[in-house]
Amino acid sequence: MSATNRFVGQNADTPLSKTTKFPLIMRFLFYSTLISLACSVITIQGQAQTAPFERDNNTTATYTETIQFYQQLAQRFPRYVRLTEAGPTDAPYPLHTAIISVDRLFDPAKARKAGNLILMINNAIHPGEPCGVDASMLFLRDYLQDPAKRELLRGITLVVIPFYNIDGGLNRGPFSRANQNGPAAYGFRGNARNYDLNRDFIKADSRNAQTFNQVYGVWRPHVFIDNHTSNGADYQYAMTLIATQPDKLPALLRDYLRQELLPQLYKGMAQKGRDMTPYVNVDETPEKGIAGFLDLPRYSSGYAALHHAISFMPEAHMLKPYADRVLGTYALLEVMLNAVGKDRSRILALRQQAEDQCARQEEFPISWAPDRNREDSLWFKGYTARYRPSEVSGLERLYYDRSAPWEGFIPYRPYYQTTQTVKKPVAYIIPQAYQEVIERLRWNGITLHRLREAADIDVEYYSLEDYKTRTSAYEGHYPHYQVEVKPIQRTQHFQQGDYVIFVNQPGNRYIVETLEPQAPDSYFSWNFFDGVLMQKEYFSSYVFEDLAAAYLKDHPEIREELEQRRQQDPEFAKSARAQLDFVYRRSPYYEPTYLRYPVARLLRIDQKLPLD
Ligand SMILES: [Zn+2]
Repeated sequence: MSATNRFVGQNADTPLSKTTKFPLIMRFLFYSTLISLACSVITIQGQAQTAPFERDNNTTATYTETIQFYQQLAQRFPRYVRLTEAGPTDAPYPLHTAIISVDRLFDPAKARKAGNLILMINNAIHPGEPCGVDASMLFLRDYLQDPAKRELLRGITLVVIPFYNIDGGLNRGPFSRANQNGPAAYGFRGNARNYDLNRDFIKADSRNAQTFNQVYGVWRPHVFIDNHTSNGADYQYAMTLIATQPDKLPALLRDYLRQELLPQLYKGMAQKGRDMTPYVNVDETPEKGIAGFLDLPRYSSGYAALHHAISFMPEAHMLKPYADRVLGTYALLEVMLNAVGKDRSRILALRQQAEDQCARQEEFPISWAPDRNREDSLWFKGYTARYRPSEVSGLERLYYDRSAPWEGFIPYRPYYQTTQTVKKPVAYIIPQAYQEVIERLRWNGITLHRLREAADIDVEYYSLEDYKTRTSAYEGHYPHYQVEVKPIQRTQHFQQGDYVIFVNQPGNRYIVETLEPQAPDSYFSWNFFDGVLMQKEYFSSYVFEDLAAAYLKDHPEIREELEQRRQQDPEFAKSARAQLDFVYRRSPYYEPTYLRYPVARLLRIDQKLPLD
């Protein structure tokens, strides 16, 4: 059963579905009154729905208003809109998805088969940055109710998340974004468990992210947009754009994004009189140059890139009036729809090639760094950065002088290069005990097999030779980094039901970048395998003395090694315990699972695997 259908019909505790507890006749009366009221509003006003933003341009819709607006859309355009409860969140309310298709292709498999492009739009991941919430409401209403615009939706199935971080949205107020110019009230960045959902796509601690993973795994969009508002410098643009780092994409998608789609988007925005610039990722001020952003898989666009989507995080500028930010986001949705509609068959073909290529690819990059040898120039419209004494500290402070706009070329460094690659195994084998890992792979559409019976299999393991751990909590974890591994070969006894994941799938990037422990957003980095980082058994020196002596008698090469170490290391020579430990670690008494990454790499297929 697809995730998108799983919660349909459940009596989830949404503001409106509470009415389902009333007797049928009451519900009928309630809805018929509601519908006749809505109809009279339509007739009287001549236009159907208005959003809170349209009644006051410094207002963003609350979560409840947003869902009510989508419910009205679904009632007004039942042929084209399906509003679905996709699954639970950390809030008391479920995550809604609105599927919009004028071709009436609401099923992911059917939409793909018919050659529709799947365009997914996510809103309110950071509820304090709600431009996308209001812009999406207006955009969908306008494109559904205007027959000419509606035609532009042909060939495209839209999957819209009206409000992702519901929990953060319920925590509403005017203060949490100190530097932002409106709206009057807005939600908070953290969700109910204080997670930043835009760091949660791989670890999926929040139920929001767990549901999102399942929605995404079912729809596998071709193009993905996650709407935000920026922080940082001041400049003339109301809209900036983070495109997923093109150098992390397969070459054909990279070239299409960088050379064709991005120029179309910037040009389209300029034609609408809403100039847009690449996201202003600066060390100090824009004059010194803008660098490309490395969207690791923890971020929405980086996560989408693991599935070969062309993905974006539009960032409206926090200091521009709220109306400019909403209308800028709206304009970008229009420009995007127009561009990907025009290039639809091109994007579908590139995506297919990328998936085929990825399924066959042998080497996978797992980490990247800025390419310092390459630089472009970018025409930029800024405000002059100046300094004056601070009224708070008396020290020099930066300010941007809006009375002194400037235009000119600045350095632009959007390029990244691969710093580490791994050769893929034929398959990874994961013990069934690691259910959290298994379910995340499954949510992401990865094909899993199981061992039909227990088996001894020749595999490669990684011995964890070194790693660092963050010393302060980061998004509910103490992630590991700078992981160093050494391959070790062994014959392992696997249990019936252990999981085998062949690395021959369109989802190969997801598999490799989560299961290779050295990848920055691997499950190992996110603490899913921390159990193996602690030794479970030790020895009593006085008992192990005799065993160690006997072992050295049978293993002169280890005795030799021990003597060498004693000569080189005087401290070691003085410690009886250290020397016993030296023998212990080289003996069969030492536990092989300590510091052994538990996901095995199957390197050859000459073994017969008893698969289900
Ligand atoms: Zn944001």
